[in-house]
Amino acid sequence: MENFKIEVDGDGIALVTFDVPGRSMNTLTASVIREIGEVVETLKSDAAIKGAVITSGKTTGFCAGADLGELGGAEGGFGSGDLKAAFDAGFALNKAFRALETGGKPIAAAINGLAMGGGLEMTLACHYRVVADSPKIQLSLPEAKVGLLPGGGGTQRLTRLMGVMAAAPFLLEGKSMKPAEALGFKVVHEVVPADQVVEAAKTWVKTKGDAVAPWDKKDFKIPGGGPYTASGSQVFIMGNAMLRKQTYGNYPAQLNIMKAVYEGLQVPFDAAIRIETRYFLKTLMSPQAKGMIRTLFLSLQELGKGSGRPAGVPHYDVKKVAVLGAGMMGAGIAYVQAMAGIETVLIDQTQEAADKGKGYAEGLVKKAVSRGKMTQEKGEAILALIHPTADYASVKGSDLVVEAVFENRDVKAEVTRKAEAQLADTAIFGSNTSTLPITGLAKASVRPASFIGIHFFSPVDKMGLVELIMGQETSQEALAKSIDYVLKIKKTPIVVNDSRGFYTSRCFGTFVQEGMELLSDGYAPAIIDNVGRATGMPRGPLEMHDDVALDLSYKIAQQTKKDLGDKYEERPFTTIIEKMVEGEGRYGRKNGKGFYDYPESGPKVLWKGLSDLAPVRIAEVDKVGIEEIRTRLLYRQAVEAARCFEEGVITDPREADVGAILGWGFAPWTGGPISLIDGLGAAEFVKACDALAQKHGARFSPPQLLRDMAAKGETFYGRFGAKERAAA
Ligand code: NAD
Repeated sequence: MENFKIEVDGDGIALVTFDVPGRSMNTLTASVIREIGEVVETLKSDAAIKGAVITSGKTTGFCAGADLGELGGAEGGFGSGDLKAAFDAGFALNKAFRALETGGKPIAAAINGLAMGGGLEMTLACHYRVVADSPKIQLSLPEAKVGLLPGGGGTQRLTRLMGVMAAAPFLLEGKSMKPAEALGFKVVHEVVPADQVVEAAKTWVKTKGDAVAPWDKKDFKIPGGGPYTASGSQVFIMGNAMLRKQTYGNYPAQLNIMKAVYEGLQVPFDAAIRIETRYFLKTLMSPQAKGMIRTLFLSLQELGKGSGRPAGVPHYDVKKVAVLGAGMMGAGIAYVQAMAGIETVLIDQTQEAADKGKGYAEGLVKKAVSRGKMTQEKGEAILALIHPTADYASVKGSDLVVEAVFENRDVKAEVTRKAEAQLADTAIFGSNTSTLPITGLAKASVRPASFIGIHFFSPVDKMGLVELIMGQETSQEALAKSIDYVLKIKKTPIVVNDSRGFYTSRCFGTFVQEGMELLSDGYAPAIIDNVGRATGMPRGPLEMHDDVALDLSYKIAQQTKKDLGDKYEERPFTTIIEKMVEGEGRYGRKNGKGFYDYPESGPKVLWKGLSDLAPVRIAEVDKVGIEEIRTRLLYRQAVEAARCFEEGVITDPREADVGAILGWGFAPWTGGPISLIDGLGAAEFVKACDALAQKHGARFSPPQLLRDMAAKGETFYGRFGAKERAAA
C-alpha cells in the first residue's frame, strides 16, 4: 500500500497512518479508496490485531476529502452512460467505508487536523472519534457549496448521529464545526490535546472497543425521530419549504440531499447508502454541479494561486503600502492589509479624517477580540501597522500605493502626483476607481507603466474579489506585482483590460438596467424583484439599484451620455430615474428612499409613489412570462460578458466566471455567465438571444464572436481555455 502504513503495537492495536505520497494534504484519490479495502482485509485477516486507530501522517490535517479535480474533470468516469458502471464507481467509497465499519474489529479515528468531505466521512465510519483540541480544526461536509452531495455516507451517518434538524446546516450549507461543537453534537466522542489523540484513541480500542456502529444495533433510534415520527416529519415539511425559499429550486444538490436523507432514514443502513449513492450520481451529473465545481472550486483555487500571473517576474513581497483616502474604501483596504501583516500608511486630507479611517479597523478588531476570535495582543499588533496621517512624506518607502480618494479626475491626478514624488521606481501605483478609465487616469502619472487599476469591492473586508485593470501602458511587471499584492491580502485577482465599467461593473450594470427596462415595460416592481431573486441573484434588480444608489447611477448615466454623444441610446426608464433623483430626492438605501422606503424599524416596503412614475400595465404574469423575465435578467448579463470577450476586456473564462460570482453575485448555480452559455451551447444561446433581441431590442443581440462559436460548435472554455500571460 502506498497511502496507508500499518504498525501493530504490543497490545495488538494497529496504527493505520494515512499519508498520500507526494501531496501536502491527504485526499481521497481512486488509489486511496482501493487501499481502504486492503486495510480492512489486513485488519480482518490478522488474528493478532484486536482493533485499529486511523490517523493522518500529514501536519496539514487529517483529510481534505475527495479529489474534486478528479471528480470535476472527467466526471470521474461517471458520465460514460453505463449506469451500472457509474453506480459501482460512485458506490466504491461507501462500500469501502461500510467495510471498515462492519469488519468486526473496533476502529477509532484519531483526528489530528481538519477533516472535510470524504475525510470527515471516513472518520464517521469509524466506531469512535477523538479529535485534537484546536480551534483551527474544521470538521465539515462542504460538498453542497460546490453543488455536490456528500457521497461517502455523510448524509446517512451525520443525521443518525445528530438528528435531521441539527445536521441540516452542515449538510445543506456545508457549515463547519469546531472540535468543541462536534463534541456537543455527539459527532465526536473526545477532544484531547493534539499530542494525545492517538493514545486516547488506542485507550478506547483497548478498554471499551465496540465494533458495532450505533445504527447497526437493534435498539437504535434516530435522535429527534425519523421522517415517520411526528416530530421528524415536521422537520421535513418545514425544511422543504425553507429550502424552496432559499434556493428557488436552482440547486439540485440541496434538494437531492433532502431526498437522500428522507428516503435513507426509513431503511436499514446498507440500503440507505445505496440510496445516497444514487442521489450523489444524479447530483454529480447535473450541469449545475459541473459549473459550480469548476468555478467555485477548481478555478477559484487556480486564481488563488496566481495562475494568471505573468511568468518571469520575481515574486514581489509587498511590505509597506500607502492608502490614499481614508473613506469607506480606504478604511477597509487599510484593515485587510494590516490583517495580512502589511505596514499601512493611511492618508487623508486631515489627520482627523485619517484617524476616522483607522477607526474602522479599530471597530472590527474590537469586535473580533470581544468575540474571542482574536487575542488582545494580536489585535494591538494589527492596529499598530496602520499609521493614519495627512502627510504625503510618509508615502516614502512604500512598495505600492492604493488610491481611494473621491471619484474625480482632478483630485485623483493631484494625489497621484503627490504620492509619486515620494515613490521608488520599482513601486506600483494602483487606483481603486470604480468608473474612470485607467488609461486616462495614468496621464497624470510620470510612470504610466507602473500605473494599474486595483478595483476593490465593498465591503472590502468581506468581498473576496479584486479586479485588476490594465491601462494601455501598464506593464506585465506591474501586473505581476499587483497580483502578488492581491494574493498577500488573501483576495482573488482577475485581470481585465480598460473599458467603460471594466468587466464587473459593466456586466452587473446590465442586470440593474434590465430591471429598469422591465419596470418601464409595465411589470409590477414586486414581480421584477421576486423573479430577480428567483434567478439566483442575491437580490432583485430594483433592490440592488437602491443599494448601489440611484443618484450615482443617474450621475454615471449623465457622464456616459456626455462621453458617448450620438452613440448614447436614451431609454424610457431614464426619465423614471431622473424624476426619482431630481424631483423626489430618492437616492436609494443610503437616504432611506429609493424604489423602497426604508423605515427605521421593520422591513423595507415598496414606495407607493412608484406606481405614478411607472404605472403597472402587466399585473398578471403567467409561467411563460415569468420565464421570460428570468431569461431577460440572466441572459442580458451573459451576453454582455460575451461582448467583453469579443472586445478583449476579459480573456480568461475562469476569471469571467469567478469574477461574476464573487464580484456581483451572479447566480452561483450557473457556475458563472460563461459556464451558463457553454452549458447551454453557443447555438442555443444565440437563438434565445436573437429571439429576445427581436422582441426587446439590440441590447440582446449576440456579438459576432458568439455566432462564430455557434457555427463551429465551440465553447468559451474550449476556445479561450487557460492561457499563460506573456512574460514581462
Ligand atoms: P469616500 O467618499 O468614502 O472616501 C473618499 C476619501 O478620500 C474621503 O475620506 C476624502 O476625505 C478623501 N480624500 C479626498 N481628497 C483627498 C486628497 N486630496 N488626499 C487624501 N484624501 C483625500 O469614497 P469611497 O466610497 O471610499 O470611494 C473611494 C474611491 O473608491 C472612489 O474612486 C470610488 O469610485 C472607488 N470605489 C468605491 C466603491 C464603493 O462601493 N463605494 C467600490 C469600488 C471602488
